[in-house]
Amino acid sequence: MTTYLNFIDGEFVQGSGPTFANHYPVTGEVIGEVSSAGRAEVDAAVGAARAALNGPWGKMPVAERVALLRKLAAGINARFDEFLAAEIRDTGKPASLASHIDIPRGAANFNVFADQVLVTGTECFEMDTPDGRGAVNYSIRRPRGVIGVICPWNLPLLLMTWKVAPALACGNTVVVKPSEETPATATLLGEVMNAVGIPRGVYNVVHGHGPDAAGEFLTTHPGIDGITFTGETRTGEAIMRAAANGVRPVSLELGGKNAGLVFDDADLDAALEGIGRACFANSGQVCLGTERLYVQRGIYEQFCEALAEKAKGFAFGDPFAKTTTMGPVISAEHRDKVLSYYAKAKAAGAEILAGGGAPEVDGFNGGYFVQPTVWTGLSADAAVVTDEIFGPCTHITPFDSEEEGVAMANASPYGLATSVWTSNLGRAHRTAAQIEVGIAWVNSWFLRDLRTPFGGAKASGIGREGGIHSMEFYTELRNICIKL
Ligand code: NDP
Repeated sequence: MTTYLNFIDGEFVQGSGPTFANHYPVTGEVIGEVSSAGRAEVDAAVGAARAALNGPWGKMPVAERVALLRKLAAGINARFDEFLAAEIRDTGKPASLASHIDIPRGAANFNVFADQVLVTGTECFEMDTPDGRGAVNYSIRRPRGVIGVICPWNLPLLLMTWKVAPALACGNTVVVKPSEETPATATLLGEVMNAVGIPRGVYNVVHGHGPDAAGEFLTTHPGIDGITFTGETRTGEAIMRAAANGVRPVSLELGGKNAGLVFDDADLDAALEGIGRACFANSGQVCLGTERLYVQRGIYEQFCEALAEKAKGFAFGDPFAKTTTMGPVISAEHRDKVLSYYAKAKAAGAEILAGGGAPEVDGFNGGYFVQPTVWTGLSADAAVVTDEIFGPCTHITPFDSEEEGVAMANASPYGLATSVWTSNLGRAHRTAAQIEVGIAWVNSWFLRDLRTPFGGAKASGIGREGGIHSMEFYTELRNICIKL
């Protein structure tokens, strides 16, 4: 049994809130317990972050800060296997996935934003004022202050450092609230912070579970100067309401119901490979995943059959085994949610081309496994076509014209990402521009350059992070005008 404590002012401390269980999704066993922070610990964490901001961290030259960020990346990589095991114990995801994505990218974020802060400039104008006298205007960037960082459970380390790294690079301090399901890597990162010499109070972690707990205490705390959140749209709305008190800025990366569009002129092998990942990677628990697929009629039957075959080809089991290609979903509650949608699809009369239930996995009876599932035949208002399920499943609908495909893709309140598959260059540009999303991939999926703007349109979020866009959120731009 592992005990996860809160990390406040450089020390691991017991919280005054209730302790809750940490489950291993592969077996359902309780493998740890998490000490949750009460109001007192959240208060202490925010206080420690403020003291560090006004103290050593706020006074540190940027070159020193950047050197420490690079040590953080190296520090995670030096304990790669521990981070990998911790992430797998929390999520059950296959080692083949977490060792290529979660941990290396989680570490790399510190290097990426160390580089970014060094090249982020500001503007300067020599000008004549309207009344004819000369002046020079320039702007400087100041840290925003103490940032509340609230993260989900699907890519725990990666999505947390995606926010913590730019926040620290810009000179802020942070209080992190990881998901109740995945407390491990955020806690372990506290040890690395201490080991590489990050001043105490710069990085704090408070644990909590559900409403009236650490997440809410943090977002409503008047000592927080900005909130960055990745999670469900409904939680994002609650956070926005909390941030309205005191007019604190928010960056919200929220849910999606992403559409994929496959035209009959696409390279079908490439489309099948990309769409296969978009539907099933990480057991479908990727905000950018494709749960609505639209396929042009000329290749519809062929594509449906091929995707269904792909769905049937995954192997469940021990995440550390090389043969395992799909893990469980995060929790019993989430499995039940996904399976409730599988039941709704069946009740609505969907044609089930693959999956549709929970598999028998030898030796892992208590695990939260669900089958990769492909449906067809439902109308646009069916629950599995409208709601974010966050499971390894997709519904396929045929379309005829480009206009019809784009209209179908846009028929959602969400607007996070899309992937369009075509060999027609004009069509690629047209559709990518017309689909109402923050990120459009053409002939690819989840191909990320971390300098590009990342975020959602419509109900999928507010703001963009990545590269210079992260610098915009994590700094306050201040204009200074000097009359000559
Ligand atoms: P949730 O919104 O349920 O939870 C996210 C975090 O918010 C958790 O740490 C949670 O704590 C905390 N929280 C819950 N209620 C409050 C509150 N009232 N005030 C402050 N914090 C609160 O999301 P999930 O963890 O279920 O993650 C899955 C969701 O994340 C999906 O909708 C997915 O689309 C989205 N997502 C979006 C991405 C994007 O970039 N757009 C990327 C990845 C995921 P606790 O766990 O204790 O309840």
